[in-house]
Amino acid sequence: MKTVGVIGAGQLGQMLGMAGRSLDLEFIFLDPSDNPPAASVGRVLQYAFDSHVGLQKLADLTDLITYEFENVPVMALNSISAGTPIYPPAAALRHAQDRLAEKQLFGSINIPVPEFRTVDCVEDLQTAANQIGLPIVLKTRRLGYDGKGQRIVRHADEIVAAVADLGSTDLIAEQWVDFDREISIIGARNVSGDIQMYPLSENVHSDGILQVSIAPADAAGLADVAERYLTDLLQKLEYVGTLALELFVAGDRLLANEFAPRVHNSGHWTIEGSVVSQFENHLRAILNLPLGDTSMRGFAGMLNLIGTMPDKSALKLSPNCHWHDYGKTPRPGRKLGHATIVAESPDNRDQEVRKLAKALGF
Ligand code: AMP
Repeated sequence: MKTVGVIGAGQLGQMLGMAGRSLDLEFIFLDPSDNPPAASVGRVLQYAFDSHVGLQKLADLTDLITYEFENVPVMALNSISAGTPIYPPAAALRHAQDRLAEKQLFGSINIPVPEFRTVDCVEDLQTAANQIGLPIVLKTRRLGYDGKGQRIVRHADEIVAAVADLGSTDLIAEQWVDFDREISIIGARNVSGDIQMYPLSENVHSDGILQVSIAPADAAGLADVAERYLTDLLQKLEYVGTLALELFVAGDRLLANEFAPRVHNSGHWTIEGSVVSQFENHLRAILNLPLGDTSMRGFAGMLNLIGTMPDKSALKLSPNCHWHDYGKTPRPGRKLGHATIVAESPDNRDQEVRKLAKALGF
């Protein structure tokens, strides 16, 4: 039996642990929180993410290490003694942690992105606004997630406050994309370099937080382009594991927003909606096992359960509904669980998603 070390013990770690059961894997997590979701599937070493002692202990106790969120300090990871492989590779983390490095990486492999400028003072944002035009999305280069660390600047008189709000320096100003839709493509690459990709997801966000994913996205013509982008990204990074690439669809243009070097919320539907889930394929990839079939078992819709956990009686609305309760303490804006519907046709799926969304007060 192999033991996998996971940095982070949230719901993604929990779902990795559940997928790993059938592969006869044992899990040890590193996380500073009390009783995190993944405690239900493995032992948790309670240390800060940048604790050298904690990371070294994790390395000593496991055969290989992976992570479930992208803000793992790269320096701390590098301090672990060689001998315990760490996947995905540090280059992926480094780029995903800095929106500037990420955009430059996209540019280097001809993946189009919204126009952007770096901002380190008010004057920089004024210049960016003159050159790109308003509205602009001002973002912190590092440590942003779920729409945190962002301000939309619609009028010139908002520039000073937006820069001050976000800490004045190390920012990036992005052209506001009046997108038609947001999609993501998720794929896995194993140590041998084999690649498998899932059909596109269409994702609906509210206040920067994912609410609903629908798969396969009705996006004829875009899948080939998205697959090309993802293949180039996986190969450029010599990536190992599951990766999610988020894109804006604007007319016939596909622009990259960001990538996550990990399993991703917009792929939760793969647990029931695919032959082999993103979680199992992540584990197969890092263990250099053959990757599993990513084709769909039907038409999937996933709703995030945010802030309060609804009563399970919502299940009676749909016999095709799969319920996932991460066991977290409710808090406004917190992802507590998700529900996935897998239906026989897109129409049935859409009807059931609408019914469930209404019952859940979306
Ligand atoms: P992010 O943290 O970059 O993924 O942004 C969170 C959400 O904010 C995205 O999923 C979009 O809905 C929205 N957003 C981010 N950047 C832009 C942009 N340049 N133009 C329009 N909407 C954006």
